[in-house]
Amino acid sequence: NTKYQNQTVLVLGLGKSGFNAARLLLKLGAKVTVNDDQEQGDNPQVGQLRELGATVITGSHPLSLFDQDEFAYLFKNPGIRYDNPMVEAAIARDIPVLTEPELAYEVSESPWVSVTGSNGKTTTTTLITLMLNENRQQGQAYAAGNIGNPLSAVVQKATSHDVMVTELSSFQLLGITTVKPKVAVLTNIYEAHLDYHGSRANYVAAKMRLVQKQTADDFFVVNWDLPELRELSHQTKAKVVPFSRLGNSEAGAYVKDGQLWFQQDMIMPVADIKVPGNHNIENALAAIAAAKLMGQSNAAIVSVLTTFTGVKHRMQFVTSYQGRRFYNDSKATNMEATEVALKSFKQPIVLLAGGLDRGFTFEPLLPLLKEHVKAIILYGETKQLLAQTAREARIPVIKIVDQLTDAVPAAYAASASGDVILLSPACASWDQFKTFEERGDVFIKAVQQITE
Ligand code: ADP
Repeated sequence: NTKYQNQTVLVLGLGKSGFNAARLLLKLGAKVTVNDDQEQGDNPQVGQLRELGATVITGSHPLSLFDQDEFAYLFKNPGIRYDNPMVEAAIARDIPVLTEPELAYEVSESPWVSVTGSNGKTTTTTLITLMLNENRQQGQAYAAGNIGNPLSAVVQKATSHDVMVTELSSFQLLGITTVKPKVAVLTNIYEAHLDYHGSRANYVAAKMRLVQKQTADDFFVVNWDLPELRELSHQTKAKVVPFSRLGNSEAGAYVKDGQLWFQQDMIMPVADIKVPGNHNIENALAAIAAAKLMGQSNAAIVSVLTTFTGVKHRMQFVTSYQGRRFYNDSKATNMEATEVALKSFKQPIVLLAGGLDRGFTFEPLLPLLKEHVKAIILYGETKQLLAQTAREARIPVIKIVDQLTDAVPAAYAASASGDVILLSPACASWDQFKTFEERGDVFIKAVQQITE
């Protein structure tokens, strides 16, 4: 790819995507300026990029850069908004404003399976990757993008025998122009990031950029249980392949008579999907459709769906012990996610919750607490607030402790055989932990102390 050779390129934002895009651009022979408005302290990436020949400017966004250089392209971190002064300056000069997936796609030799949507992206991307790697004869499927592995690093090792399974956010999709996935997957559209996109229509339009370059040889896998998405599927030239948990279409992946089907193939019983919840049936259907379209066998699909225990920290099955099943849903940093988690189980739940106080009450959780939760163990800043809602929900056992490590034995003490013990905090972790990942790991360790 010689497109960027000797071209002057501005990279805005020194996050993971900026660092990796800059490195790839340098390798392609571009003259690269990297700019971040935050001081970088002793961030080793600054030195690395300078050694490779980049100009790195930190601590401000100097508009004078546009007078010094005639930039041919701007690659921005997806989180940087379009009203950023540097982005506005580029747009005013007709400089294309792009994101890392565009660059990665341009150098990629592999077919792309790309997943977007409001929820379920990481789970679906993971399922597809596992399915495509099961008994694979040649090459490998790589999960990359929003899921954590930088696209522009992964594309450099992936060949035409491999598959890039890419998780793409709406922010990333705004900065693509040539990306043409073999299979595009739209899981659902719910909330709209209105602060960034300005309107719901803009958010939906951003998602649909994923299919704009597709042709009749490509596929668009889309959730047929959401009427809005059925309408949107008219926008692509790709073959539309619906998935439907509610049996609204039998043209793609769907549920009928308690079984998962793809077109005329009966694949396996719904009840054998290892990860719990209706939302995961939807993720499984989307993944089945993508895997089948990429030529994968039913046996490979069954093998993944009957063993996959969930992406770490997202309704991840931890272990079962004395008839109790433990789940880690530390990623549930808000009430909506905890609602999805509570709805996922028919068994009585012993819930562990609490965390950073964002100043709102937990009233919306009340109906689901009432319906599903037999005991609640609370910790962290919000423990008293949550206890108030728990009392209103008349949960028989309400226990307040200081630390998550105390909450686990208390939860076990309040449980009986047949129960689910669930960490789904409904709060961010930052009052007591660095990240939700650390919180989930602390939970898993505490569970292991009881069960091992
Ligand atoms: P994303 O990558 O889009 O954030 P994840 O797969 O990481 O999605 O799941 C995050 C949380 O979103 C899950 O713990 C669950 O609460 C919820 N979720 C996952 N899949 C779906 C779905 N298909 N529909 C609705 N909610 C979902």
